[in-house]
Amino acid sequence: MSVDLAPLVPYFSDLRGGRPLAALTGAGVSAESGLPTFRGAGGLWEGRRAEDLATAEAFANDPVKVWRFYEWRREKVRAARPNEAHLAFARLEGVLPRMTLITQNVDGLHQAAGSRRPIELHGNIMRDRCRGCGTVTAAAPAPFATLPPRCPLCSELLRPDVVWFGEVLPAGSWHEAETAAEGSAVFLVVGTSSVVAPASSLGLLAARAGAHLFEINPEATPIAPLAEGVFRTSASEVMSAIANALGAR
Ligand code: NAD
Ligand code: ZN
Repeated sequence: MSVDLAPLVPYFSDLRGGRPLAALTGAGVSAESGLPTFRGAGGLWEGRRAEDLATAEAFANDPVKVWRFYEWRREKVRAARPNEAHLAFARLEGVLPRMTLITQNVDGLHQAAGSRRPIELHGNIMRDRCRGCGTVTAAAPAPFATLPPRCPLCSELLRPDVVWFGEVLPAGSWHEAETAAEGSAVFLVVGTSSVVAPASSLGLLAARAGAHLFEINPEATPIAPLAEGVFRTSASEVMSAIANALGAR
């Protein structure tokens, strides 16, 4: 099936000429790599919602349970490969002089596809961070032998280096994302339910600052009424079509 890109076509030459494109991606972009979204089918772990596991409070109450949830997710990430949507974002960097990729995903698949420097708003699940001394290290290639893992330097608990519900986003990343959203000529919101704040506000910031906003998501989200155009199909289909239309290899 081919995608009708008509609503976007008027902006293609501007983008090729150096007007800035920014895109915000969410779990839907990695769904086609086999990683469950939080709100779709398969997002529950042992019947629990992510909102009840991905919090500092849950971790303080039961670090072993939270780590079991993360080890389950890490195994899926270790087995996952970038899909056509990730590849299309990386291809676009080759033809668009100014492009900023902002992701809520923690799986590292944008980098695996070749995107040079995505802004990771929510951290990366394949890193550990010490709750005591703050040291960050790459996750081992295999699950921990005993849970919960402890810091080899200070013996405090290690946690995944992600932003949990209720936690503040890394200030530098958030500032960069805001600046890119507000400075963009075209802003794409791709595969995110647009309900997790403050990432969900980036589309609004962009639209208010005058960007042409487009949503790519099989389902409508709260950002849809602000969008100039919507593509109600998968991220891989639409993003590949955009990359092809712009001549990206
Ligand atoms: P979400 O689960 O709330 O929403 C996913 C969205 O993707 C939904 O709106 C759904 O309609 C859409 N979608 C499903 N399949 C799609 C496809 N093929 N193409 C395009 N869209 C598709 O996810 P969110 O909005 O990213 O927010 C949830 C939070 O969960 C984020 O903070 C994120 O860090 C975290 N999370 C990350 C991953 C990951 O890194 N892969 C996975 C699950 C959750
Ligand atoms: Zn430590």
